[in-house]
Amino acid sequence: MNYRHAFHAGNFADVFKHVVLCRILNYLREKPAAFRVIDTHAGEGLYDLTTSEARRGGEWSAGIGRLVAAADTRPIPADAAALLKPYFDVIGALNERGQIKVYPGSPAVARAFLRPQDKLIACELEPAAVRQLVRHLDNDGRIKTIAIDGWTALGAYVPPPERRGLVLVDPPFEEEADFHRLSHLLGIAHRKWATGIYALWYPIKGRGEADALAKRVRKLGIAKVLRAEHLVSAVSDQSRLNGSGLILVNPPWTLEAELKVLLPVLARLLGREINNGSYRLDWLSGEN
Ligand code: SAM
Repeated sequence: MNYRHAFHAGNFADVFKHVVLCRILNYLREKPAAFRVIDTHAGEGLYDLTTSEARRGGEWSAGIGRLVAAADTRPIPADAAALLKPYFDVIGALNERGQIKVYPGSPAVARAFLRPQDKLIACELEPAAVRQLVRHLDNDGRIKTIAIDGWTALGAYVPPPERRGLVLVDPPFEEEADFHRLSHLLGIAHRKWATGIYALWYPIKGRGEADALAKRVRKLGIAKVLRAEHLVSAVSDQSRLNGSGLILVNPPWTLEAELKVLLPVLARLLGREINNGSYRLDWLSGEN
């Protein structure tokens, strides 16, 4: 395992993923019944953007850096700004106004939405990342950090006792096999827990692997699957990350309309060059 999320924390792909995560968590909080979040590839939990890794990567400045600057200078329409508020609240709680020094990973984002009755299982395999994850999140009785293979966790922890909740699957994609694991293990988990919400993240360099993943997910015969993609540039240069996508199984009924507002704004603000961003939002099955 060579992947270190510290180089990428807060980049455009994190922003897209965490904005959607916040909308799902916001929805889950609206009903009093307890929910559980299962984060299969949790990372370190919190990222210090002033470290040499974060500075060397510099990716956060074209992600959260740009979005926060836009929020301050107000080119974000009011409907999108209202939907972004829970995400900005999570970032704001960790940083002084006007200075982004800390960026939350997915388990810290999830923690911000937990009520006393809710739970989070955060799984991570890379030993140094596990140590950080424990340091950042393990002092909270609602949260269990576990050093386990995330793919094993995906099968082992569903269905959760609460029967309401979200499984986030966000592997490093160091190997192409992760694309295949994603669809294969979604099929197995969904057979065990058909009513859970699943959010599966994938990178987009070219269209090939992303389209093949969509095709395999369609074949699983799951009733409701929404696909959201956010691109910061055309896919002409396939050696770099041009965007990312989320396969959303059983999305909250509110999410499609919210993404119709949010995705054009993220595409406009986070494009690699001016007007170079784009998005896609469609149902792989159901709801069309
Ligand atoms: N979900 C995190 C977030 O949004 O902040 C980022 C996760 S990062 C893309 C992927 C993480 O998976 C890395 O921290 C990596 O160490 C970890 N990882 C790699 N292989 C794994 C495995 N088999 N099981 C669990 N975690 C793994």
